[in-house]
Amino acid sequence: MKKALLVAECRQGRLVADYAELPGFARALGSESSMVLVGYPEELPRFDGRLHFADAREYGEYNPDVHKRLVLRAVEAERPDYVVFMHSSYGWDLAPRVAAAMRAAQVSEVSGIGDGGFVTGCCNGKMRRTVRPLTPCAVLTLRQGAFHAERGGEPRCLPLEAEKAASVQLLRYEPPAGGGIDLSRAEVVVSAGRGVGRQEHIELVRALAEALGGEVGASRPVVDAGWLEHGRQIGSTGQTVAPSLYVACGVSGAIQHVAGMKGSGFVIAINTDRDAPIAEVADLLVAADLEQFLPVLISKLRS
Ligand SMILES: Cc1cc2nc3c(=O)[nH]c(=O)nc-3n(C[C@H](O)[C@H](O)[C@H](O)COP(=O)(O)OP(=O)(O)OC[C@H]3O[C@@H](n4cnc5c(N)ncnc54)[C@H](O)[C@@H]3O)c2cc1C
Repeated sequence: MKKALLVAECRQGRLVADYAELPGFARALGSESSMVLVGYPEELPRFDGRLHFADAREYGEYNPDVHKRLVLRAVEAERPDYVVFMHSSYGWDLAPRVAAAMRAAQVSEVSGIGDGGFVTGCCNGKMRRTVRPLTPCAVLTLRQGAFHAERGGEPRCLPLEAEKAASVQLLRYEPPAGGGIDLSRAEVVVSAGRGVGRQEHIELVRALAEALGGEVGASRPVVDAGWLEHGRQIGSTGQTVAPSLYVACGVSGAIQHVAGMKGSGFVIAINTDRDAPIAEVADLLVAADLEQFLPVLISKLRS
């Protein structure tokens, strides 16, 4: 059986919740797994297996040299076939360093497994490609939301140690202007597409999201028009979401949009065009005009 070493992440003293997609990926791959974490979270990851753990209060919350060394220590201990990161800023920065140190193949932003390889997006989401690594161990980063989250019990903790010499020092984190929007963990997403017609109709989409206890998403034209913030864009050049319920309001279902929501559980599309491509990924297509249908639906939900 293949072995995967999963690299969890801690940011500002908190475990980054999408670490749970790493064991989900290992299960989809049919591999055994162990985990490595450099951090000081209030709670350890819930994971059934060995957790190589270094306390970041000693090693620094993020320092590429030191974190690379610690991950490589865990690699030495586990001898995995895959070292797997999430495709986060931590993964973007650290995975190539680890791959270079190991002279291993790296495959970035994996969204699926198939034909003995890994599926990744390319050409800004217009195409997908399947890549088979040819080195004995490969370093992967996983697209957020592409694999099911899986949590286990208490991990078996093994202490990790490494030299602390570093070439850079993390000074601080700063929130982005306007605040970050993270739709990747939303259970319900209601998206506005160009079919909403006018900026005022965004309020209908917002009201539906509120009635369903969800978040508002958007297609690119809606963001380009300035009707919603870029942080809400879903698709190949936006966020990837995997909610239980996705409601696409006036979204045609272009490949670049679908790339960001195809992991959703149940998809409802509201569209005047029964033959819109979104019908191919929707579980339910409501052939209706948004302007007439949404107020009725919202009032029914509220009552
Ligand atoms: C490199 C690149 C990257 C891209 N990245 C992204 C991305 O990340 N995300 C993204 O979304 N797009 C992206 N796009 C754009 C993408 O190709 C599509 O143009 C876009 O997704 C279309 O958005 P839409 O579905 O809102 O609009 P349209 O394609 O114009 O569809 C509008 C839909 O609304 C329906 N409609 C119209 N009026 C009503 C009404 N009154 N009631 C109900 N339905 C109605 C129409 O039938 C139609 O199906 C990218 C494109 C490129 C080239």
